[in-house]
Amino acid sequence: MKHAEFSGRLVMLGFGSIGQGVLPLILRHIDIPADRITIVTAETRGEEVAAEYGIRFILQAATRENFADLLSPLLAKGDFLLNLSVDVSSVELMKLCQKLDVLYLDTVVEPWAGGYTDTSLTPSQRSNYAMREAAIALRETAQGGPTSVTAHGANPGLVSHFVKQALLNIARDTGAPVANPPPASDRAAWAGIAAKLGVKVIHIAERDTQVGDTPKKPGEFVNTWSVDGFVGEGCQPAELGWGSHEKALPPDGHRHGFGCDAAIYLMRPGASTRVRTWTPLEGPMHGFLITHNESISLADYYTLRDADGAVTYRPTAHYAYHPCDDAVLSVHELAGKNWEMQPEKRLMTDEITKGMDELGVLLMGHAKGAYWFGSRLTIEEARRAAPHNNATSLQVTAAVLAGVIWAMENPRQGVVESDEIDHARVLEICAPYLGDVVGEYSEWTPLEGRGVLFPEEVDAADPWQFRNFRVT
Ligand code: NAD
Repeated sequence: MKHAEFSGRLVMLGFGSIGQGVLPLILRHIDIPADRITIVTAETRGEEVAAEYGIRFILQAATRENFADLLSPLLAKGDFLLNLSVDVSSVELMKLCQKLDVLYLDTVVEPWAGGYTDTSLTPSQRSNYAMREAAIALRETAQGGPTSVTAHGANPGLVSHFVKQALLNIARDTGAPVANPPPASDRAAWAGIAAKLGVKVIHIAERDTQVGDTPKKPGEFVNTWSVDGFVGEGCQPAELGWGSHEKALPPDGHRHGFGCDAAIYLMRPGASTRVRTWTPLEGPMHGFLITHNESISLADYYTLRDADGAVTYRPTAHYAYHPCDDAVLSVHELAGKNWEMQPEKRLMTDEITKGMDELGVLLMGHAKGAYWFGSRLTIEEARRAAPHNNATSLQVTAAVLAGVIWAMENPRQGVVESDEIDHARVLEICAPYLGDVVGEYSEWTPLEGRGVLFPEEVDAADPWQFRNFRVT
């Protein structure tokens, strides 16, 4: 089914696992001739996929110095820049698109190469918090301009829409249904729903069980999506949206001292920070608290303030990621080498033999305890649904497709975050690509099975304190 017709040109910057995975979805669901699409990328990787679909392929890395000269001739008013690259500043691309009157979408707020680990910057300055602040600072000047969707993949992205649907489901199941869901632009109304339900904590709770026929070798980093992307964010300080119910900052926790103040950072890499979490199929598990844009945007979006501007409600929000088992081994090896990247890297695709990505949101603290809502997509289902994808990439590429279509349908929205986009429309477009979309309640809390060996570790009075989730 074609969801949209697009008469402009579309430039894809970067053509790695997400770029290659989304191309067939774009051609399937958007009415755009192949000769109006151009790929600009830094490697020959994917050249044969571009050729398979008859897409022009330009091999040229975008840099601080050349990006405007490289992209401007390919883009004019009404065209679309789809940024699926690493190492290119999203904020600079957004500025260029506002100037050229071009639509834009990316899946992460990315800095220039080296930005995640630039030690001339403080940990706060190189945080996702700071990068998100720089992106949303463009909102004012972009008002009424071409739509720039910031950070709309699976997570960040799709999970913001899962949160909205989860809130509506919990409201329905606790006897307080929301008859007319407010528009996504009405932050206070959505925050009011979350506050009324008593949601204290939101995890992006993900368990990737995909395994391949080739085990990880020593000196090799293996993952089901961008190795560079994962290592980059895993080496950033852990970050989390900081809820109004939290009693005390963690000993290594810091506020940023600028911007929306919805989040804090910990003085350690996310890939060495573990938290207790839960998904329906895996049950209790330890996940990495990797910094992500949605931890901050969700906490900011679901904030209520009194007349004096003081915060009266905000949930704690963060990622709790159990990547595929070979990626866990890869992180262990990376940490042992003091975060010096392994000489080899491998993105798992055709060698995957089984497994699924169980990706959802876990809303906790309400009347029914914990509620997970999300997608269970097996590798077999992913392969049946679309070429050039595994289960992890398809959850991302379906959401990229939905974000692109939403931008085409709403072309004058200026700078927009995932939380500000109509969740029902996005979920409708993504549905055929998400496998089983399910919601499950649980009595699980991070105190389950605890307090026997080390009772001093826990705050038994309130299970939903971050202190209880953190693995120390
Ligand atoms: P990948 O590593 O497979 O591919 C990256 C692509 O960018 C490659 O084609 C590479 O050649 C290209 N590239 C690198 N430097 C470039 C430059 N200077 N100019 C132009 N192109 C350049 O990564 P991926 O898995 O496809 O992920 C792409 C992006 O999407 C990453 O930023 C990643 O963090 C993000 N991502 C987001 C989500 C989400 O759910 N929000 C999920 C997966 C990936």
